[in-house]
Amino acid sequence: MKSVLNTYNRRNIQFVRGKGSYLYSSNGKKYLDFVQGIAVNSLGHCHPNLVKAINKQSKKLWHVSNVFKIQEQEKLATRLTKATFADFVAFQNSGAEATELAIKIARKYHYAKGHKNKNRILCIQNSFHGRTLATIFASNNKNSVEGFGPKVEGFDHFEFGDHKELEKKITKKTAAIMIETILGEGGIKVIPDVCLKGLRKLCDKKNILLILDEVQCGIGRTGKFFAFEYAGIKPDIVPIAKGIGGGFPLGACLMSKKVAKGMTPGSHGSTFGGNPLAMTVGNAVLETLLTKNFLKNVETKGNYFQNKLKLIQLMYPNVIEEVRGRGLLIGLKLCVSQPKFIELLLKEKLLVVKAADNVVRILPPLTVSNQEIDIAIEIIKKVCKSFK
Ligand SMILES: *Cc1c(COP(=O)(O)O)cnc(C)c1O
Repeated sequence: MKSVLNTYNRRNIQFVRGKGSYLYSSNGKKYLDFVQGIAVNSLGHCHPNLVKAINKQSKKLWHVSNVFKIQEQEKLATRLTKATFADFVAFQNSGAEATELAIKIARKYHYAKGHKNKNRILCIQNSFHGRTLATIFASNNKNSVEGFGPKVEGFDHFEFGDHKELEKKITKKTAAIMIETILGEGGIKVIPDVCLKGLRKLCDKKNILLILDEVQCGIGRTGKFFAFEYAGIKPDIVPIAKGIGGGFPLGACLMSKKVAKGMTPGSHGSTFGGNPLAMTVGNAVLETLLTKNFLKNVETKGNYFQNKLKLIQLMYPNVIEEVRGRGLLIGLKLCVSQPKFIELLLKEKLLVVKAADNVVRILPPLTVSNQEIDIAIEIIKKVCKSFK
């Protein structure tokens, strides 16, 4: 990849075909894919419903401007609002765009109410909200911001789990708290339900908005449509992406009626966001995801997988320190070298992906079978054993 800008340490493997939970490489090898484009291919590779939908739509209409009515957009927005807390949806093309729009909506909400200085966003230090200028400074990872100054202003930070610091950092200027319900890149750090409940109360008390970034943990990944549903709370704004497109670039920002008021015609736009082709794929993903028992099965399979992993952790506490996650968003916090662990799994034809905090992320498709989980379990066990 000589002519491609060198911003990735790429593995020397090339995949030419995918089917369900499996990927096939150019040299004819078969891999169990528990990365799935980092939680993007929610229904696995080339799901027949998605293939059918995209083929059909590709012969009808690909793209028209948002200056016209788009039926597929209305259909997907209605589906999303019916299934969730939201009253309105704005379509984008990626996670970073969706989180950046969430920031814009939060600021505009207070601005429209006459609070022109209430514009600061409080985030978790070393989180992940994307790679645009605003979202890197919102995430505040040393490696992602270095060299990209001047700093985009308007973000404050607290350490994960530090309730005191969180309360201290809230000022009259705070417009919103924006956090991932489960920190993905940060190492599958689950925010406990009781903390989410407390956070909702705190935001209400202080008149600030709650933005929950569900780009990675949303769209059924945890066994609920949104991960925050476990806590029984309602956020104000929720950016989504990854899983909603099933492999097609698609992002969106969901919001309540109250918050949407500030966003008037002309205040935001996107050339590609919400085009008929992308919307058709999104609709096909949701048609499958929202069928009876689909999400329940994700939760059951997630518990099945995590319980088996916890047994391995008990057998090899010197290799795995902790099993983290919810549903099929799983992290193994390791005591051993993470790159080596990933390398050994790769040799056994199991694909996983790294996260911060010496964590390995396991992200099977939501359509994974128990039998495929068992295959992965045997491989992980074998690799743990080799560390002894
Ligand atoms: C991946 C991710 C993003 C950024 O999505 P892109 O599509 O890469 O811009 C934002 N937030 C979270 C929580 C993510 O996991």
